[in-house]
Amino acid sequence: MFGAIRHQIRKSSTSAAIRNDWTREQIGKIYHMPLIELVFRAATVHRQFHDPRKIQQCTLLSIKTGGCTEDCKYCSQSSRYSTGVKASRLMKVEDIMEKAHIAKAKGSTRFCMGSAWRDLNGRTRTFKNILEVIKQVRALNMEVCVTLGMLDEHQAKDLKDAGLTAYNHNLDTSPEYYPKIISTRSYDERLNTIDNIRKAGIKVCSGGILGLGEKEQDRIGLIHSLANMPSHPESVPINALVPIPGTPIGDMVKKPVGFHSFLRAIATARICMPKTIIRFSAGRTQFSETEQVMAFMAGANSVFTGEKMLTTPSVTWDQDSQLFHKWGFHNLESFEYDEGAEEPNFTLPPKNRFRPDHAEALKAARPQLEAQGLAM
Ligand code: SF4
Repeated sequence: MFGAIRHQIRKSSTSAAIRNDWTREQIGKIYHMPLIELVFRAATVHRQFHDPRKIQQCTLLSIKTGGCTEDCKYCSQSSRYSTGVKASRLMKVEDIMEKAHIAKAKGSTRFCMGSAWRDLNGRTRTFKNILEVIKQVRALNMEVCVTLGMLDEHQAKDLKDAGLTAYNHNLDTSPEYYPKIISTRSYDERLNTIDNIRKAGIKVCSGGILGLGEKEQDRIGLIHSLANMPSHPESVPINALVPIPGTPIGDMVKKPVGFHSFLRAIATARICMPKTIIRFSAGRTQFSETEQVMAFMAGANSVFTGEKMLTTPSVTWDQDSQLFHKWGFHNLESFEYDEGAEEPNFTLPPKNRFRPDHAEALKAARPQLEAQGLAM
């Protein structure tokens, strides 16, 4: 009986909550809610779709660092800026695999690799090596994600055939603010690459960076672009800029994004994209442990853990292990929330899963939300 009611509530709230027709105004209203209500509402949605005690640990390795021809104005790896980052060639397959083995042994369940270049064109041998790495990482039963710049349909298909789980291609910010950040590729080119990824059957990982000097309306615009994609990205990384001296943005931005703004973005993304894994990405070291936990409560359910995050500092496995232990979090396993599963594949006992009182809380708040045009 209880199971049937739970299923019914879950079914109705699920079908009502997944939307791809958000207006900016609606997202703006959510973003600007009193913060405590925003966090509560995001936490409620989070518990409907995810196990709130599970957080996925990912490790991101720079497999080809520096020397990039693009002009992303925040990036330490652009050859246009003097940041002290030395350009290197693609790491050897065996060296990458050594890092993947370490990441798995330490507890990461997703291994992500980034290369600093515009696209794969003219890199036939390099691409072959990357496909080999993808095969080997998948053989470790880890999720594998790469970010290799712009991609055409054929390259996307090759990556899919090699077993790639997800491809990262961030939108970075709103369409309006984007030209102030990057001039060497357009927003539409980014969306085109994301289309190619989706068409190839690879999961989309796409998010943005806060603290680029953007306004709140740009954060809302970013979430609007992501939440109105034909299907929500499987993964949305939200980064807090780590200002790099020598880059135009790093020299302009005097202080990192405030935690309350960061929290608002996490919570709004959770509400607008209920099933997505929201990744608390770069810049986590700027926030206190309690702030991090607040972000997890508001719907972030993945972190990057390791020695480094590309070229910036990272929270270490030991630090996360202590945090997880202290606050009662567990690691999300690889493929635990796999596509096609009717419900998330929770491993916690049923009493810790979806709770009818969460649905009741949403139900009670519904008239008020409807009056504000915010009902899901
Ligand atoms: S494309 Fe990537 S590596 Fe190149 S400058 Fe932009 S963010 Fe940096």
